[in-house]
Amino acid sequence: MRKIYFTPGPAELFPTVEKHYQEAFELQLGSISHRSQLFRDIYKHTAEQLRILMIIPETHGIFFTGSATEIWERLIQNTVEHESFHLVNGSFSKKFFDFSIELNKYAHKMEKPFGEGFDNSEIIVPEYAELICATANETSSGVQMRPAEIHKLKRANRDKFVCVDMVSSAPYPDLDFNTVDSAMFSVQKSFGMPAGLGCWIVNPAMLEKAERMKTHENHIGTYHNLPSLFKNFAKYETPETPNVMAIYVLGKVAEDMNNIGIDTIRKQTEKKAKMLYDFADKSDFLDVFVKNPEHRSQTVVVVNVKEKFAANVIKQVQNDVNMVIGSGYGDFKDTQLRIANFPAVSLGQVEKLIEALKKV
Ligand SMILES: *Cc1c(COP(=O)(O)O)cnc(C)c1O
Repeated sequence: MRKIYFTPGPAELFPTVEKHYQEAFELQLGSISHRSQLFRDIYKHTAEQLRILMIIPETHGIFFTGSATEIWERLIQNTVEHESFHLVNGSFSKKFFDFSIELNKYAHKMEKPFGEGFDNSEIIVPEYAELICATANETSSGVQMRPAEIHKLKRANRDKFVCVDMVSSAPYPDLDFNTVDSAMFSVQKSFGMPAGLGCWIVNPAMLEKAERMKTHENHIGTYHNLPSLFKNFAKYETPETPNVMAIYVLGKVAEDMNNIGIDTIRKQTEKKAKMLYDFADKSDFLDVFVKNPEHRSQTVVVVNVKEKFAANVIKQVQNDVNMVIGSGYGDFKDTQLRIANFPAVSLGQVEKLIEALKKV
């Protein structure tokens, strides 16, 4: 019997992914040249479907990398001469901050305890920060930063770039790409695909900065620097030999999501999240971890486990209904559960998971 994965990435595959990979093999996409018209058509289709799904302006580049971790590095290399600023409230946002230090930048951070989130009104941005890094969904703690707050942050800091890590929430957050400058995601989380592809959305202002930095002999990296990515993207090519299969499947999944409609996906996500949070609220052995309802992630629900070992809960649910729940992150492994609520899991599956948890 197949398992259903409620893990926050890698996660349950979107229902059509297997079929699209089969088509990819039938089309022999593993053997085609990435300098062929067939590949350019695939890249163009994927970019077009993502533009529709996430309302990305025509002016913005849509680039493919190894993963989102790579994009953290590329962002700092290409847009920060001296100073970056990071909103840190968990392991992923912390790692992004660490990268900036490792790349010899002057990295500032505003830090919140694990489980707490950010609103624009309390954020003080250092004067000389060139890039502000926000996380739409901190996967380790289940905390979201709402798009409206991210937009306010940019409007209050128009002279700085704002980039959004939307790895474990895209395409759920309703981000305005005419406001924020850049965003990134990996495909193995809320897009429900096998890992091995990062996607980076970038506006032309960032390209201009990277070009200036290049002439100043600043290190903006080699093949995946912004001038190289934009130049190749103009003809729907990539600087290196890319993951053609995944680029093809991402375009198909985005198309499937467009057929369902982004509004429907958002409403279903919110409905399933509410079911999970309501259940945890009422449960006598679970507790919603994130106290402020406005900061509660809609795509990764984190709960505390009282008077039981989290590992035993995970084991029992797997034995009873073959559903796999994510464990808590790092130090919270023994005391928390992380339940991914990505578009790949249906309302019926969430109901079944809740029934199974009631029996624990
Ligand atoms: C998983 C994750 C990443 C890293 O993604 P990779 O695909 O491992 O590079 C970055 N940010 C967030 C918020 C994540 O959840």
